Amino acid sequence: MKDIEIAQQSEMEPIVKVAKRAGLSEDEIEQYGNYKAKIKLPLAARPQTKGKLILVTAINPTPAGEGKSTVTVGLGDALNLLDKKVMIALREPSLGPVMGMKGGATGGGYSQVVPMEDINLHFTGDMHALTAANNTLAALIDNHIYQGNKLNLDPRRVIWKRVLDINDRALRHVVVGLGGLTQGVPREDGFDITVASEMMAVLCLAKDIADLKKRLGQIVVGYTYDKEPVTVNDLGVTGALALLLKDAIKPNLVQTLAHTPAIVHGGPFANIAHGCNSVLATQTALKLADYTITEAGFGADLGAEKFLDIKTPVLGKTPDTIVIVATARALKMNGGVLKTDLDQENVTAVAEGYKNLQKHIKNMQSYNVPVVVAINRFTADTDAELAKIQELCQADGVKAIIANVWAEGGKGAVELATEVLARVEEEHEFSPLYASDDELTVKIDKIVKNIYGGAKVEYGPKAKRQLKEFAKYGWDKLPVCMAKTQYSLSDNAKLLGAPQGFTIHVREFVPKLGSQFVVALTGNVMTMPGLPKVPAADGMDLADDGTISGLY
Ligand code: ADP
Repeated sequence: MKDIEIAQQSEMEPIVKVAKRAGLSEDEIEQYGNYKAKIKLPLAARPQTKGKLILVTAINPTPAGEGKSTVTVGLGDALNLLDKKVMIALREPSLGPVMGMKGGATGGGYSQVVPMEDINLHFTGDMHALTAANNTLAALIDNHIYQGNKLNLDPRRVIWKRVLDINDRALRHVVVGLGGLTQGVPREDGFDITVASEMMAVLCLAKDIADLKKRLGQIVVGYTYDKEPVTVNDLGVTGALALLLKDAIKPNLVQTLAHTPAIVHGGPFANIAHGCNSVLATQTALKLADYTITEAGFGADLGAEKFLDIKTPVLGKTPDTIVIVATARALKMNGGVLKTDLDQENVTAVAEGYKNLQKHIKNMQSYNVPVVVAINRFTADTDAELAKIQELCQADGVKAIIANVWAEGGKGAVELATEVLARVEEEHEFSPLYASDDELTVKIDKIVKNIYGGAKVEYGPKAKRQLKEFAKYGWDKLPVCMAKTQYSLSDNAKLLGAPQGFTIHVREFVPKLGSQFVVALTGNVMTMPGLPKVPAADGMDLADDGTISGLY
């Protein structure tokens, strides 16, 4: 049965009931229909975050699928089955990939969050609010230039782009202000996808409304003719942007198929942005539940690294356990098997592809956090393949547990949940990858050599020039958000497994002062994705009675 059919057949609980079980009163939520709600902020009666934090991450993704969200939801349902007070915190899906690639962002099989159609489509409008706030700022910048340009903003040096939450390669480079004297000042511009925008990062990193405003005000939109940075505060529009985000900043409450409370809030991609749901969502879950299970996007080289190096310092809480999701299929692909041959047993390829999982295990262990491997079981997996993964993990000192959550929901992850419950109690002292006052280049060096397994970093001419400028502006010690392909540990999507000796090419930096990090663009990664030859949109429909089909 398809994910959407399973979701449509499920009976949801009214969200008030889910909220109550999560420990929220009716006054603390704002309902969006019967099955979605926003959680009002702040949760004044609960100032302390007290729960254990479990981070779910994965090996490098392959077209064979890994199922991080599926395992996150299944693990949450399993802890619920074991009578633990648990909450799940996930990212909200972007319409771009929903319409583009196949593969939902709400889990799969019997481990899903619902209502999946709403969550995957317009949900509670957060993406639209972010898009509107982002583009309001863009309009205000162009208007400022048009209306006399008091700030002396150089139109050629505006770095604030317009956004859309759609994969639209035709908008990557545009010229705005064409048409004559009264239409504005012509300049080159471009669109990013909303989930790569600084608006999204700011929303996800803000600790409260005051922090949201502080971050919005610090955003650098461009430079003057004298190359001095111009901020949102300089434009005087911080308040307007904050009010456009007044509801989007509140975490969204939904439920799993088994009625476990889940917060789905904020959704930056992990390849071109920082890849984690909002700090407020995770914090809210940590206040309400004894166990919070959250997920970081793509592989552990991107999502988990950013969770641990960018989000954790803001959140003020490090994970108590990290779960790395792997599948026999994805390991086989990492071991050289073609997608068309994945249903045939191939223990040798599993062992070869294990090198990718092994690198991620070592990386996560280097932060000194307890690590568990979850093998997400697919129906075609053979016992010999699964046993091989377990044997190899054991040799590396890590327990690998088979999770059958897609087919069985929470029941399929009771063993995994039991192991996680034991591991979160382990004493450990978190060991960060870099010091906060390391220079940008030192931070990048540590990420590339220690996490990716690369040999060196090469900076293109623009990146080199920017490094000098950033030192002048005092931005040379900010955390780094690497923009890199998700498919490989290197910046070449075709290098699978655990490549070594490679060079990472940083071609450009984008300062994100509101997010308080610098994005390093590597290889040819794009901040506005395109649609594939056969987009997922091709198979979608809305029946006369309102039933949706084709959303996976
Ligand atoms: P990720 O979070 O790693 O992107 P998801 O959990 O969103 O992955 O899963 C991606 C897709 O793969 C979903 O459509 C889901 O139904 C499917 N999937 C996940 N796990 C399994 C499994 N064990 N068997 C079959 N399909 C699965």
